[in-house]
Amino acid sequence: MAYEYDPQNIFAKILRGEIPNTTVMETEHCLAFRDIAPAAPEHILVIPKGAYVNFDHFGAEASDAELVDFSRTVAKIAREIGVAPAAGGSGYRLISNTGSHGVQDVPHLHIHLLGGRRLGRMIEA
Ligand code: AMP
Repeated sequence: MAYEYDPQNIFAKILRGEIPNTTVMETEHCLAFRDIAPAAPEHILVIPKGAYVNFDHFGAEASDAELVDFSRTVAKIAREIGVAPAAGGSGYRLISNTGSHGVQDVPHLHIHLLGGRRLGRMIEA
């Protein structure tokens, strides 16, 4: 089954500059910005600029350059905001919600990078 991407989703609008965002980092293939409703002191969303619905779409169809840039960007942000243990931080959590069971609200691949406090148990319900 083919992946269907909705170009009217809110992150597509952010990428087109139609709505504002608080950018943390921008690379050739990615944009990272602060979540509008932070669940932790550090809550950053990292998205590919390409039209990918979720991680399995991205992993199957993205170019090597996009895949590498995405991983490197997440890692670089974790170091730069000081949550990466290698940067003296106390750690962080990455989450990528997918589909209805994953409780994904925005149908454009995004990784939540959360940190700045102890985050508690992994799954609430
Ligand atoms: P998810 O449930 O994994 O799809 O997460 C979507 C996330 O996008 C939520 O944490 C929202 O708070 C966040 N969000 C929605 N609209 C915006 C926006 N305009 N700018 C930044 N974050 C947003």
